[in-house]
Parts: sequence; C-alpha cells; structure tokens
Amino acid sequence: MITIDGSEGEGGGQILRNACALSLVTGEPFVIEKIRAGRDQPGLMRQHLTAIEAACTIGAAECEGLELGSNRIAFTPGRVTPGEYRFAVGTAGSTALVLQTVLIPLALADAPSRLVIEGGTHASMAPPFDFIENCFLPVFERMGPRVSARIKRHGFFPRGGGRIEIDIEPAPLRRIECFERGEPQGREGTVLFASLKSDIAERIRKAALKALPDWEEAQIAIRELPADQGPGIALMLDAQFENVTEVVSGFGKLGLSAEKIGTTAGKRMAGYEASRAFAGPYLQDQLLLPMALAGGGAFSSVKISDHTRTAAEIIARFTGRATQFEDAGEQGTLVRI
Ligand code: AMP
Repeated sequence: MITIDGSEGEGGGQILRNACALSLVTGEPFVIEKIRAGRDQPGLMRQHLTAIEAACTIGAAECEGLELGSNRIAFTPGRVTPGEYRFAVGTAGSTALVLQTVLIPLALADAPSRLVIEGGTHASMAPPFDFIENCFLPVFERMGPRVSARIKRHGFFPRGGGRIEIDIEPAPLRRIECFERGEPQGREGTVLFASLKSDIAERIRKAALKALPDWEEAQIAIRELPADQGPGIALMLDAQFENVTEVVSGFGKLGLSAEKIGTTAGKRMAGYEASRAFAGPYLQDQLLLPMALAGGGAFSSVKISDHTRTAAEIIARFTGRATQFEDAGEQGTLVRI
C-alpha cells in the first residue's frame, strides 16, 4: 500500500488526480493523508470528489473517506471498463481536470470510450477546454491513442453548466521526445464572453495586444456567446508552431480588472514566444504522467513548476521511474522520465 502525504510539494488536487490515474493503471492501492492541508479550504472539494468518483466508476475502485472536506482517502483500484460515461461536477469545477483523471486509464483500455463531462470549461486554476484541444491532445495523440474533444456549452465560474464530449480510441502509449517546437505557423487569440458588456472584452484585447507588440489586432477575435452561458469572460492566446501549440489563458473574476487579465496573459505569451522550449508551464506537468506510463519520454520546457516536481514524485512512488531535470541553455530545461 502506497501512503502519500497530500500536503507535500505543491500540495493540491493534482496529487489526487495523478494518484487515482496511476493506481488504476498499475493496480496499486494507495492512501492519501492531509489532503490539501495547506489550502484555504483544506480537504476534498466538490471537483476533487467528482474526479475521484469518476476514477471509481471507470475502474470499479473502492474508496474510503470520499466526502466533502475529507482529509484522508484510501483507494483500492479494480478493473478499468471502457464504455460510455457521464460525469457532472455540479459547480464550475473543471471538466478538464475530471478528464485528466480518467483519460489515461481509458486510453490504455481494450475498447473505445465516450465521455460527457459537465461543469466548468473556462475557469481559473485549470486548463480551459482550448488548452486540452489545441495544446495537450495533439501531443498526447502522438503517443498513440486517438482522442477527439468537443465543447457543447461553455461553463464559467461560478455558475458552471458547461459540457464537453470526449471520444477515446485506445492504443498502447509509445515514447516520444519533444525537443523542438519547430517554425512558427500562426497566432490566434480569442476573447470569449457571455452576458457581460462587450467593452470589457475590448479592454482585455487591448491590454493583451499592448503586451504583445508583435501580434496584430486581427489576431485576437472577440466572440460573444449566448447570454445563458454567462456571465463570464476568458482570454485564450494560441501560438502555433510546427510541433506544438501553446495556449495561454486568463479568466474574468470579480475584482480583477480587464487590463490585468489581458496584460498578464499577454506577458506570459510573450515569455513563451521569446523562449525556445517545447512545453509551456502547464503542458509540462501534464505530459509527465503519459510519458511515465509510455515507459519514458523527454521534452524541453520553460521553468519547472512545483506542480511538475510534485507530479514527478508521485509518479516515482507508483512506477519507480525517476524524472531528471537538466539545464539546456536556450532550450530551457530538459525533462527526461
Ligand atoms: P491543482 O492546482 O493541483 O488542482 O492542478 C491544476 C492543474 O491544472 C495542473 O495540471 C495545471 O497544469 C493545470 N492548469 C492550471 N491552470 C492552467 C491553465 N491556465 N492552462 C492550462 N492548464 C492549467
């Protein structure tokens, strides 16, 4: 039995999600104690519950301590059964993070699956749908499985109500190495908004463009969604390269100015474009798990995050596989697992 201290390292929900996925694939049971102990609202929140419940459903797993606020769970995996599943977070909790929990076990199953996940699709502290579709999945598909993702309805904080659909064609995961991003192929930004005044979207676009002097105004579109999907606003900036598309995002929140949203995302994108690394700060932690289960892999990346170091530790506990981080000069850091 693997025992994990949930407050160690980055200390967030990612430890839980990665542990569930690893447990389902390796068959190793685990206990996590001190779940999210250092957070403002410690213990399991609604979105973590949904992710763990989803893991239990697809993997005939048993889980003790599965309730709101719980600071300890004991998870015993069963056999993963592919099929059609619907999971609903019930808040603006992230649909992408529920997907992150079940994707790899289902991608390694012996038949296809179709998922419907309801909740938030564009809220802070999680990948927006566009990141999953344009950044993560194209790299993941190079490892073998085929995954198509569709957004049926957007869900912003705090209302949620979004809906994504995912089709997974399994295949054994193969090792890949991703060092070069390749030549630039294009840039595409969008300010998505619903049930808010359009001048907020204009201000976000203006601030992002100010931080991105090489971008043209026409490269950031403004798209209004039906009012019943709001209120909410999000900025997505895509920089497309031959081998990878980086997606930087920013989300509206009460008390956060439009200028701040646009400037922060714009500066982050400028930082990525100025570097030569393959993976941005989020793709980095999300690539480690599939690469570990592929039997290894490597990529170059921007500065290594706490999420990535913590993911590496959890992966090592389940698989015995170590991750190395080497300085690669202009290329950033070389991550090898
Ligand atoms: P945690 O904070 O432990 O719940 O984990 C958050 C997860 O969401 C990590 O896998 C991050 O890489 C991912 N994430 C957070 N913000 C973004 C973002 N803006 N774009 C893409 N992925 C994100």
